[in-house]
Amino acid sequence: MTYLMRLPKFEYLGPRSLAEVCGAIAGPSGNEVMLLAGGTDAILQMRRRERVPRRVVGLKGVAELDFVREEADGGVAIGAMTTLRSLVHDPRIAARYDLLRETAAQIGGHELRNVATIGGNIAGALPCADLPPALMTLGARIRLSSARGDRWLALDEFFPEFGRTVARADELLSEIGLPRPAPRSGGTYLKFHDRQSMDMTVVGVSAWVALDDEGRTCRDLRLAYANSAPTVFRAKRAEAVLRGQALTDEGLEAVAEAACGESRPRTSWRANGAYRLELIAALTRRAIRRAWDKAASQGGAKS
Ligand SMILES: Cc1cc2nc3c(=O)[nH]c(=O)nc-3n(C[C@H](O)[C@H](O)[C@H](O)COP(=O)(O)OP(=O)(O)OC[C@H]3O[C@@H](n4cnc5c(N)ncnc54)[C@H](O)[C@@H]3O)c2cc1C
Repeated sequence: MTYLMRLPKFEYLGPRSLAEVCGAIAGPSGNEVMLLAGGTDAILQMRRRERVPRRVVGLKGVAELDFVREEADGGVAIGAMTTLRSLVHDPRIAARYDLLRETAAQIGGHELRNVATIGGNIAGALPCADLPPALMTLGARIRLSSARGDRWLALDEFFPEFGRTVARADELLSEIGLPRPAPRSGGTYLKFHDRQSMDMTVVGVSAWVALDDEGRTCRDLRLAYANSAPTVFRAKRAEAVLRGQALTDEGLEAVAEAACGESRPRTSWRANGAYRLELIAALTRRAIRRAWDKAASQGGAKS
C-alpha cells in the first residue's frame, strides 16, 4: 500500500511565458526540477515521494501554451496546456479528429478533465495513458522547447522505455501537431477498465484506417496500444497485414495475432498477462471494424 504524505518542501516558480519556463528549467539538473501542469499525476507523485523536486515550475499561468490553432496545411496545432475538457468540446477537434475527442472523453471524470492537460498526459510517460495511442495513430508530432531552441519529433519516438521520454532535463513539451486528415479515414479508441470507478486503463487500443478511393480496401492502417507493453507503442508489423486488402474475418484474425506477438503485457493485480493478450486480440478486431465503418461513412472529412 502506498501512503500519501504531505507535499515535500520545494521552491515554486510561476512563469508567465514559454521563454520564462525555459529559463526556469535551464539551470537545475535532472530530478531537481519538476513541471506542474494540471497536477493530477504530479501532486500524487510528490505525495508518494516518487518525486522530491527542489524546484516546481507551474505552467498554469503560461497562456501561450493553451491553444488550438488551425494550420494553413489543413492540420491542427494544440498547445501542451490545453485541457482534456477543451479537447472534448473544441469544434475544430470534433470536425477533424473525432478519435482524439472520443479518447479524451473517456479519461477520468469531469473534475479531472477540467484540469488535466494533453501535455501532462503525454509527458507523464505512463504506459496506461490514453491519449498517446490515439495521437500516434493520428500521426502526431511534438515540439520540445528549451532555452537552446525547439526541436520536433514524431510522437512514436518519444517513449524509449518504461516511464521515460527522450526529452532532456531542460526541455518541456510545448506543442502537439496533427496532420491534415487523410480522405476516407476514421479512427477509434477502445479501452477496457473497471466500469465502477475512475481506474486506470487495463488495455487500450487505438485503430486508424484510411480506405482506397472506392472505399473497398485498406490503403493504410495504424494501431497503437496502452498498457500492453512497458511503453505505449505502434504495432507496425500488425499494421502491414491488412494493407491493400478488403476487410475479412481471416484478415482481422491475422492482425490481432500479429498485434499480440508485438505486445509484452505485464501481470499486475488488475489483470494477468494472458488475460491482457485476450483483450488485445478482441479489442484490436473490434477497433479496426469500427474505424473501418467510420472511414467508409465519413468519406474523408474526419479521423
Ligand atoms: C482519479 C484519476 C483517474 C485518472 N484516469 C485516467 C485515465 O482514465 N486515463 C489516463 O490516461 N490518465 C488518467 N489519469 C492520469 C492523469 O490524470 C492524466 O495522465 C493527466 O492527463 C495528466 O495531466 P496533468 O496536466 O494533470 O499532468 P501533471 O500531473 O501536472 O504532470 C504529469 C507529469 O508530466 C510532467 N509534465 C506535465 N506537463 C509537461 C510538459 N508540458 N512538458 C514536460 N513535462 C510535463 C510533469 O512534470 C509530471 O511528471 C487519472 C488520474 C487520476 C488521479
